[in-house]
Amino acid sequence: MNYELKYSKLGNNLKSSLIRELLKYASVPNAISFGGGVPDPETFPRHELSKIAAEVIENEYSYVLQYSTTEGDLELAKQMLNLLDKIYGINGLDETNIMFTTGSQQALELAGKVFLDEESIAIVENPFYLGAASAFRMRFSKFVSVSLEDDGMNVEVLEKKLKELDEKGEIKKVKFIYVIPNFHNPAGATLSLEKRKRIIELAEKYDLLIIEDDPYGLLRFEGEHLPSLFKLAGKERVILLNTFSKILAPGLRIGAVIADKEIVRKFVLAKQGTDLCSPALTQRIAARYLERYDLIEQITPTIKLYKSKRDTMIKAFEEYFSDIKGIKWIYPSGGLFTWVTLPEGFDTLEMFEIAKKKLVFYIPGQAFTPDDSKSPSMRMSFCLPPHEKIIEGVKRLKEVILEYGRNEGLI
Ligand SMILES: *Cc1c(COP(=O)(O)O)cnc(C)c1O
Repeated sequence: MNYELKYSKLGNNLKSSLIRELLKYASVPNAISFGGGVPDPETFPRHELSKIAAEVIENEYSYVLQYSTTEGDLELAKQMLNLLDKIYGINGLDETNIMFTTGSQQALELAGKVFLDEESIAIVENPFYLGAASAFRMRFSKFVSVSLEDDGMNVEVLEKKLKELDEKGEIKKVKFIYVIPNFHNPAGATLSLEKRKRIIELAEKYDLLIIEDDPYGLLRFEGEHLPSLFKLAGKERVILLNTFSKILAPGLRIGAVIADKEIVRKFVLAKQGTDLCSPALTQRIAARYLERYDLIEQITPTIKLYKSKRDTMIKAFEEYFSDIKGIKWIYPSGGLFTWVTLPEGFDTLEMFEIAKKKLVFYIPGQAFTPDDSKSPSMRMSFCLPPHEKIIEGVKRLKEVILEYGRNEGLI
């Protein structure tokens, strides 16, 4: 049967992502992979969670094993409101401002459904988080991308592009600006306070929403937490997406949409058609966990672990890359990633062929360009490999860079 004739336009457009294809190679023996984007399983509080899981299934079975509301667990909402107040200084909200989702990924997909039509425009960052890209692409809308710098989105470019769209009479098609403010995936960059304020000013000037995707905010290694755009601009303008994936365990699949209650209502309606509700079981486990333990205390060892690996990777860059002219990297103050940019002319996807031979893996920047264009950059995750593998991997990567550079006459 010719399935293509049966598929929808969307069905025909769905393709396997570059990352999925590339990560197949990373599991060969002796490979060192900086490609993974997932937390270290040793950081999951498995003993605490398994005890709580047994308790809630025994004692709260009529709730946790039943269908629940689309909005999600009120006990978890209580805990979330508490965290938002205590950690982010966000207050004045109640449970009508929160909906739980099956991971933040679902919130991104619902945002696409709620806001984007084919003729819509979304302002996104370049590099662009792949999960958001695949969610928004399902709506066939257009992207206008803004490049990232060490301190986040280039706000001059943002201003210029918005002005152009306004002059062309297209500003009404622009629905939102999508930003990852802290320890960006893939770029590791953190949006400075001045730029946060400038993005808000521009969103106010052109009357745009902001979607603030913040999975990593709590994983800060040093320095002060910066105020979220949500706190700075208020819930009328900003939809805050949060998740327990990077601070507790991604397998729980718990994300949260925090927004004006009218927008939360709309997300609830969109979610009903998707999955009726997210599992009450994992939400209640998380709620009891947060009741019983101090999250900040619990994630302190995780932060220490990731920080020490960040230090090892950056030190290895300084040691092995310093004689490669024009190479740059982002120094991440938190999260899981750094972003290495090679001199002009390098194509990290093409270079991957050599990396395969030398058994070191990264994610080529092309996986994150909004228009699938070539890239001299690569995402490097430091959270999974042990310290000595990080050093060995950076050494191998240097050989890869030199071999490719010589072959292409770039160095
Ligand atoms: C990991 C991540 C998410 C969270 O995904 P979940 O679906 O909650 O596991 C969202 N946004 C970004 C930028 C991420 O890196």
